[in-house]
Amino acid sequence: MSDDSSLFAKIGALLSEAGLEPTPHNYEFFYRYATGADKQLIAAVDTVRAAGQPLNNRIVGTIRRELFGAGGGLGRVIENAERELGRMVDYVEQSDADTREYRDRLDRSAVDHATTLDRQKAVLADMVEATNAILSQTDKLQSELARSAREIDALKADLEIARTESRSDPLTGLANRKACCDYLGAQLPRAARDQKQLSLIFLDIDHFKRVNDRFGHRTGDEVLRLVGQTLERSFHGVGFAARWGGEEFVVVMPGASAPQAAAYADRFRETIGARAVKVRGTGEEIGRVTLSMGISELVKNDTIQSLVDRADQALYEAKEGGRDRVICSRAAA
Ligand code: GH3
Ligand code: MG
Ligand code: MG
Repeated sequence: MSDDSSLFAKIGALLSEAGLEPTPHNYEFFYRYATGADKQLIAAVDTVRAAGQPLNNRIVGTIRRELFGAGGGLGRVIENAERELGRMVDYVEQSDADTREYRDRLDRSAVDHATTLDRQKAVLADMVEATNAILSQTDKLQSELARSAREIDALKADLEIARTESRSDPLTGLANRKACCDYLGAQLPRAARDQKQLSLIFLDIDHFKRVNDRFGHRTGDEVLRLVGQTLERSFHGVGFAARWGGEEFVVVMPGASAPQAAAYADRFRETIGARAVKVRGTGEEIGRVTLSMGISELVKNDTIQSLVDRADQALYEAKEGGRDRVICSRAAA
C-alpha cells in the first residue's frame, strides 16, 4: 500500500469509528489528525479517546469549533469584505473609465467646434448623448455605492458577532481562555504600574468525569453551564470569569489580595455545594457538585504563565488535600 492509500485507510477507519459521514469537513478534520500535522487537534481527539468517550458528531463539532470555529467565522467575514471591496474598486474604475471617455468625446467635439451648422448640430447631439450616458452611469454608480454601504454595514455586524464568538465559550457563554489571556495581558502591567494587588483563582470541578460517566455528557454539559453561569453572576463586578477549558475555570480579581479572593472563592464553593443539582427531565439527583480551587497573587516579575502556574499548583494541592476546598499558593514567582 502506498503512503497515500494507508493514510486514506486510516482516515476511513477513524470516520467509521466515529460513525461520521465522509463529508469534506469531517474528512479534513481526520486528515489533520491522521497526518499528525495539527498538534492541538490531536491532543483534543486523544483526550476524548483516552476518556473512552465516543468520537461522535457532536464532539467532533465541539473540537472543531473550539480549535478553528471562530476563525472560520472570521475567515468568512473577511472573504465577504474582500469581495465587497473588490466590487467597489471595479465600480470606481469603471466610472473613471467612463468619465475619461466622456472627456475625450468633449475634447473631440471642441476640436470640431467651429464648422458648419449641421456639424454644430451633430456635435451638440453627440454631447447630449455623451452627457446622458455619463449621467446614467453616475446614477448606477450611486446606487451601487449605496448598496455597497449597506453590505458593509451588514459585514460590520457580522464581524462584531464573529469577534464576540472568537472570545467566548459557546457552552457557558463565559469568556474563553484567549479572552482571559488578553485580559490578563492588559491587567498585569496595569497592576504592576499602579502597585495594586491582583489575584487569580483556578477552579476545577471535582470528579467531573463521574458525572459524565453516570449521567451522560449532556448532563455534564448542564453542570458546566450551571457552574459557569453561577460563577459569572457571583463574581460580577469584582472579577473576570472565564472558562479555561474542559471543567476548569479561571477568575481574575484585580485589586484583591489572595485572602480576599479566597473568601469569595470559598463562598462560591459553598453556593455551588448547596445546590440540589438534578438531571433535567428525569429529576434524578446528581449529588453535590464540589469544586477545588487554587489561588495565586501577583508578585513582582510575574508573567501570565507564572501566575497561572502557581494557581494551578495550589489547585493540585487542593485536590491532593481531599478536594472541595480552596488553597492559596504559598510560593513566590
Ligand atoms: P478531578 O477531581 O481530579 O478533577 O477529576 P475529574 O474527573 O474532574 O477530572 P478529569 O480530568 O479526569 O476529567 C475531566 C472530564 O471532563 C473529562 C472530560 O471528558 C470532561 N469534559 C471536558 N470538557 C467537557 C465538556 O465540554 N462537556 C462535558 N460534558 N464533559 C467535558
Ligand atoms: Mg481538570
Ligand atoms: Mg476535575
